[in-house]
Amino acid sequence: MHRLALRRSLHSCEPRELASTRRDHVCAATSSDTPNPGAFGIPAAMFDPPVTTPELLHPREVADRVIAGDDGALDQKTLTRYLAGEGDLGDLMAAADRLRRSRFGNKVHLCSIVNAKRGGCPEDCGFCSQSKHFSTEVEPEKFLPAHEIEAASHKAASQGATALGLVTATRGMKDGSKPLEHILEGVRAVRAAGHTEAHASLGFVDREGLVKLKEAGLTELNHNLETGRSFFPKIVTTHTYDERIETIKTAKELGLRTCVGGIFGMGEKPEHRAELAMQLRELDVDEVPLNFLVSIDGTKLEKIEPLGPQEILRVIASFRLALPRQNIFIAAGRTHLGQLLPMMFGAGASGMMVGDFLTTPNRSVQDDLDMLTQLGLEGLHCGEQRPEMKRTRLPVLG
Ligand code: SF4
Repeated sequence: MHRLALRRSLHSCEPRELASTRRDHVCAATSSDTPNPGAFGIPAAMFDPPVTTPELLHPREVADRVIAGDDGALDQKTLTRYLAGEGDLGDLMAAADRLRRSRFGNKVHLCSIVNAKRGGCPEDCGFCSQSKHFSTEVEPEKFLPAHEIEAASHKAASQGATALGLVTATRGMKDGSKPLEHILEGVRAVRAAGHTEAHASLGFVDREGLVKLKEAGLTELNHNLETGRSFFPKIVTTHTYDERIETIKTAKELGLRTCVGGIFGMGEKPEHRAELAMQLRELDVDEVPLNFLVSIDGTKLEKIEPLGPQEILRVIASFRLALPRQNIFIAAGRTHLGQLLPMMFGAGASGMMVGDFLTTPNRSVQDDLDMLTQLGLEGLHCGEQRPEMKRTRLPVLG
């Protein structure tokens, strides 16, 4: 009886909701459970001093410190432990929701994207159906003409989105190149129409190209880091993490806002997720899109099963606690949340992508807008000052 009780108590640190991370989680009991007969046949491990892990910082305490002005209250070790399944999910979400409400109130940011150049990308990102390294159903197409991009911005605005992101399946583009000229036309068309802000995700863009994009009316550049630095080479081999970071830094220097996030569920571990969050904090990006892998037939990651809803909520809440200032919005794969979808806001998300993704459909926009109404949340309007852009400290709650 005593031995059973001991085992139970040692295993109390095992994550309850994380099926995938459970495999990787090594808690104090695991190593000492190896048969190791001691005196009288009693396992020696029972007499070893217990291996103790430091007490876990309660998420409420993290939120208290952030609200008192310390945006970096959550350290990487604690974040990794949250992501690995330690700490109660309800506690994490309560703290994350408090931070979301203190920064964003009942406002949510809605954005849309348009595939301005589909397929045929020379890069080999393992999750991507548009890479020419993989045999998928996506057929390469030419650049979308400006009038179709303008029509997409009109549609996006009618769906409540404040920004339209022009996305191209390209390694990047340089000043003076035809691809950049196409995008400049598209950005000007979106700005002239005035329905939404113009954002873009184009791969690597040189400084001169970024200057021209800004002059044309681009307000924000998306360039995702996808995952933690140490896991990135397992997903992409045709370019480096640092190349991505250089583009982000240049965009920031030029006064563009930056939208930088990642994809979860590619086989990465909690520490890789924490690495990504800390990198985003260091870069001080403005928006953080969180995607959850939708595995596409023919890609390198085609066999990976989607993350479960509770693990997704844990990622969102942990990222909110790590990145309290940023607009964290949920993009591809949010339907993996199933019936728990509305809880993404309770886990700290402050926005979502509406309308279809690049090569996969999203759920209906009307369902999304109805969900917001029922939750008492409101979309921001184009031109309205966005709360995450205020760099003042979070208010201290009374
Ligand atoms: S760079 Fe973009 S479009 Fe190209 S393979 Fe990677 S994710 Fe896909």
